[in-house]
Amino acid sequence: MPLPIARTMTPDDRLAATHARIASAARIARRAPADITLVAVSKTHPPEAIRPLLLAGQRDFGENRVQEAAAKWPALREEFADCRLHLVGQLQSNKAAEAVALADAIHSIDRPSLIAAVARASDATGRRPDCFVQVNIGDEPQKGGCAIADLPALLAEARTAALPIAGLMCVPPAAVEPAPYFALLAKIARDHGIAGLSMGMSDDVEQAVSLGATHVRVGSALFGARA
Ligand SMILES: *Cc1c(COP(=O)(O)O)cnc(C)c1O
Repeated sequence: MPLPIARTMTPDDRLAATHARIASAARIARRAPADITLVAVSKTHPPEAIRPLLLAGQRDFGENRVQEAAAKWPALREEFADCRLHLVGQLQSNKAAEAVALADAIHSIDRPSLIAAVARASDATGRRPDCFVQVNIGDEPQKGGCAIADLPALLAEARTAALPIAGLMCVPPAAVEPAPYFALLAKIARDHGIAGLSMGMSDDVEQAVSLGATHVRVGSALFGARA
């Protein structure tokens, strides 16, 4: 179970508590905590809320909008040159060049046109963010991500475009037990020989880690509730 977030917890406390959750789930799964990257999802939160986590040593951050990332991160980067920015939200192809210029990882590759746009921007700039294919693991019409059935063709497309795929990403359906979806994503990744697994958020870090997550994307447990 996730720990309740007391209002009195400082950013350092929240970070330590989240690392403790990851470490505890990793220990049970006989995994090394260092093999799991905590991505602090800072969307909607201002730089003043982000800086304390940077000062506490957190280095990987996630945003879901290119525009918001572009407004916040260049200045933070000047202060903390070694931080890494992950884009975790749906990405329009016409924002791909800006995304590639900004991000160290893109978790939401989900269609051929986006693969082409990201590959083009990577070739033009020499910047090669880690790319994750988002899978619509619960087959939900309103959600981003490629259909499970379309994944083989999309991976072939990425190979043709010389865009290496570092992992798969999913956001399971809300309000149901996520573990079966995490297990399914892990199996699909294994079937395709893909090592990275971006899965698990504030409420289900433990399940994700126990089922093989290499990247957990945690927002509210670190920053408090979003407005
Ligand atoms: C907002 C967001 C998260 C973080 O969600 P929390 O429940 O606040 O931890 C993770 N992944 C994606 C894709 C998101 O948009």
